[in-house]
Amino acid sequence: MLLGGLFHETHTFLRQPTRIADFEDSALHVGQDIIDRNLGNASPMDGFLSYALARGWNIIPTIHMAAMPGGMVERAAVSLFRLTFFPILEARIDELDGIFLILHGAMVSEGSDDPEGELLREISHYLQMRGVHIPVVGVLDLHANVSQAMIDNSSALVAYRENPHNDARDTAVRAARLFEALMDDPRVAQVHLATRFVLPPTGVGTADDPMRAVLAAARAIEARDPEILNINVMAGYAYADVPDCGFSLSAATRGDPARAAAYLEDLKAVLVANIAKGYPRESLLDDVLRQVDALPPGRGPVLLVEPADNIGGGTPGDATDILGPLLATGRRGIVAVLADPEAVAECVAAGLGATVSLSVGGKTDEHHGAPIPLTGRVRNLTDGAFELENKKSHLASMLGSHAEMGPSAVLETDQALILLTSRKMPPMDLGQLHSQGIRPEDAEYVIVKAAVSHRDAYWPIMRATFNVDSAGLCTSNLGRLPYRKLTDKVIARP
Ligand SMILES: [Zn+2]
Repeated sequence: MLLGGLFHETHTFLRQPTRIADFEDSALHVGQDIIDRNLGNASPMDGFLSYALARGWNIIPTIHMAAMPGGMVERAAVSLFRLTFFPILEARIDELDGIFLILHGAMVSEGSDDPEGELLREISHYLQMRGVHIPVVGVLDLHANVSQAMIDNSSALVAYRENPHNDARDTAVRAARLFEALMDDPRVAQVHLATRFVLPPTGVGTADDPMRAVLAAARAIEARDPEILNINVMAGYAYADVPDCGFSLSAATRGDPARAAAYLEDLKAVLVANIAKGYPRESLLDDVLRQVDALPPGRGPVLLVEPADNIGGGTPGDATDILGPLLATGRRGIVAVLADPEAVAECVAAGLGATVSLSVGGKTDEHHGAPIPLTGRVRNLTDGAFELENKKSHLASMLGSHAEMGPSAVLETDQALILLTSRKMPPMDLGQLHSQGIRPEDAEYVIVKAAVSHRDAYWPIMRATFNVDSAGLCTSNLGRLPYRKLTDKVIARP
């Protein structure tokens, strides 16, 4: 079978595009390298490879590209995928028994609102033209913005069910099992139900409603109807200004597609009944700090969650709109992380132990606060590489188990330990801080640039958590974003 991967969550309001170099930073593997570089790394690609190799399947690897969430994907990146993938498809078409793809489902590229749909359509046309009938199966992220073209041109798409995504690798194994079943018996139909609801990332954790209720109802349908092979509950990704943005449902069935479609209507009703919880409220920092001061004493840090600069949602990771005001209150025991290659370079130039005065953060664009002046001691300098402490971390869905922040520095001030990184890295695994000599367990406050994906790492060590409303393009207040293509969508609590 033919194997490929094209994985990106695209934030269309960011100015900086996602380039081929950004894929090279995370994963850009061709041919045998896909197997050599991913087997055993806890990623979805590893999940498929492990399953396939255990069964002795003949894998024809093409190209696998994955980059951190970020701005519009440049045309050349999609072209690179196509120009590698299709010649191999053409050359090996006669020996294929299936095509398996690791996708994300919320990619947008220059010139296309739906690159995954177009890719699947092209594959489907090619197979039809050659009279080849083989299953085409893809893995999707739970945050996929699914189009009808993606459904119509695949045999089955299989999405994660957990957010944080601790089941990304397991989902690829589940998809591989379904792929195997379809190679034995290709009868399958897919149905899709788009909705008008565009939910902010903070509203789609799977421990909470509405996701919890809809997922539970989906599992109950699968359990009672053996003809249903899989149901996807896809939260969507709010920061893609494309017509297919938003919450959707899909099912793969051996039975009557009309019955499967009726199930999806039932699931949509569960969503609607719980919809208000999908738009959680956030408080401003002043109000949050009043609540913190009223907390009973306890162990562990207070998490000041900064969804507006949710790195796993694509923003630059250098927003200062919480850190600056928090420092101004005079509070101590603060841990924060900022992506700021300039500041790292200044720390490196000054050397370990030196005292430096820097201007940190707020440098990427005008949406994420202003640089703040800091004076402190350079406490640690590293190459920024770390291994995940939790192999089921959300981060493994994007990167596998090895992460690289690039040259990194820890700046120690009277009030704070600030980890400065060269590349942005979402706070999904405690290995990020522990590897740099920072123990968030001992902090008073940790500023966490995430919406939901940090929870498996940080909730076990925290005293309390607050989502803070601040400036940034991953704001939970979607009404602040200049959407143009979301006609007729619901972006706030109805
Ligand atoms: Zn996701």
